Amino acid sequence: MVALHDLAIRGALIEDGSGCPAYAGDIAIDGSFIAALGEVGAAHAEINAQGLVAAPGFIDAHTHDDMELHRNPNNQSKLRQGVTTVVCGCCGFSAFPHSPPQRSPDLLGVEGNWRSYREYRETLLGHGIGTNLVAFVGHNTVQRLLCGLGSAEPSAVALVNICDEIRRAMDEGAFGVSTGLIYRPGREVSTAALSQIVATVADYGGIHNTHIRNEADALIDALAEAISIAEDTGVGLQISHLKVIGEHNWGSLGDALSVLDAARVQGIDIGFDVYPYCAGSGPLSTYFPPENIDETRALLVQIIRCLDYPEFEGRRLGEIAEEQGTSVASIVRQLVTAPQANETLCVIFEIHEDDMLKALLHPLAMIGSDGIPQEHGVPHPRLLGTFPRTLGYYCRERSVLSQSTAIAKMTSVPAARFRLDNRGLLQVGYVADVVLFDPATVADRGTYTSRAFPTGIHHVFVNGQHAISESVLTGVRAGEVLSASP
Ligand SMILES: [Zn+2]
Repeated sequence: MVALHDLAIRGALIEDGSGCPAYAGDIAIDGSFIAALGEVGAAHAEINAQGLVAAPGFIDAHTHDDMELHRNPNNQSKLRQGVTTVVCGCCGFSAFPHSPPQRSPDLLGVEGNWRSYREYRETLLGHGIGTNLVAFVGHNTVQRLLCGLGSAEPSAVALVNICDEIRRAMDEGAFGVSTGLIYRPGREVSTAALSQIVATVADYGGIHNTHIRNEADALIDALAEAISIAEDTGVGLQISHLKVIGEHNWGSLGDALSVLDAARVQGIDIGFDVYPYCAGSGPLSTYFPPENIDETRALLVQIIRCLDYPEFEGRRLGEIAEEQGTSVASIVRQLVTAPQANETLCVIFEIHEDDMLKALLHPLAMIGSDGIPQEHGVPHPRLLGTFPRTLGYYCRERSVLSQSTAIAKMTSVPAARFRLDNRGLLQVGYVADVVLFDPATVADRGTYTSRAFPTGIHHVFVNGQHAISESVLTGVRAGEVLSASP
């Protein structure tokens, strides 16, 4: 008697994640693994995938889902895009170490009863999570807890303590350390101290994941700093959300890529992630210190979440100032000095599409949404739309990159970067993280003023379990907390 497969997906167009051209075939899943590809035998359950593309589940290389996995553990905003693994702990902020019962005063707003990474992951696995997790430990989070939010260059003793805390997270399975050098306290810390901090993860084969010090006029200097740390420490470098901002800098992203290419030729291990949008997003107070408000830049800002003035959500600062009969600078000052200013988020329209596409098309580029989950207001559309937008708008409608290339940037490229050995490809023996989508209809639907799930994502399997069925969330929480392969 021939054993039946658990599941057979019939007649899909298989994009295996390698970037090679797609082929028609079936996929068999047994338990958590891909058992067969091509023509596969009978199964207990079948899915007719005629007209659909099958691809490895997408890996979101840059997220701020750290608390979403606890507050809304299904992580529907990612599953509905076909994402099966999220990278957390980015831009210097992680959910651990944590000191309950305080709420962290950063873009994550960490609340929970855990202290260490081990306790955080136990909490997540206790209630289950919808997507897999790759976790980094954030330097800002560690230094704020040990030395305070307003701390600057750490003393020798403080530096030892910071490194000890990072080592502890690595011992518990973190993938590396992240830095966020436009945020406090990271922006006050010297390159030399950062090198010592990053060196902590070298013995583990960890990665330094960095939001660099400047993405505008001093982009090249900021890249040089990150590369020098990689040179000093031998630690692999992941540049977060590579871009160049500010109209007078538009057209210069190619120079940044040349710097990265040159470093790569020198043997530096480099990768970077990109989101397919022309607006950035983050806390308003980070961009506009009250003592020095850039009015020209403020005119590019739209408020997306504001607990102090919810009536401003979805509106441009220039429009609000005009209505109130005051200057843009005074509106910004009012917002960044309000009681809950830390929680005010904005989008800034300051990236040129040509630069974004130049970054996206580079062979080292992978896709990372950088979305910031938020209950109030309307999030930047990248949170719900990054992957369908790349496939629908940039592959199908604009033909700026092939579907096979785009999918590799969502699967095998990040899997190799983060050393997820048996994920990121549709191959026999690999874990069955699988997405089935309709290439004719896949599209993002959200905008900067309205929140909406994408279309065209039909089925998603996480570790072999059906998490999205016929575009509907099943509620199965099959996600795992992943570890890097040796
Ligand atoms: Zn960032």
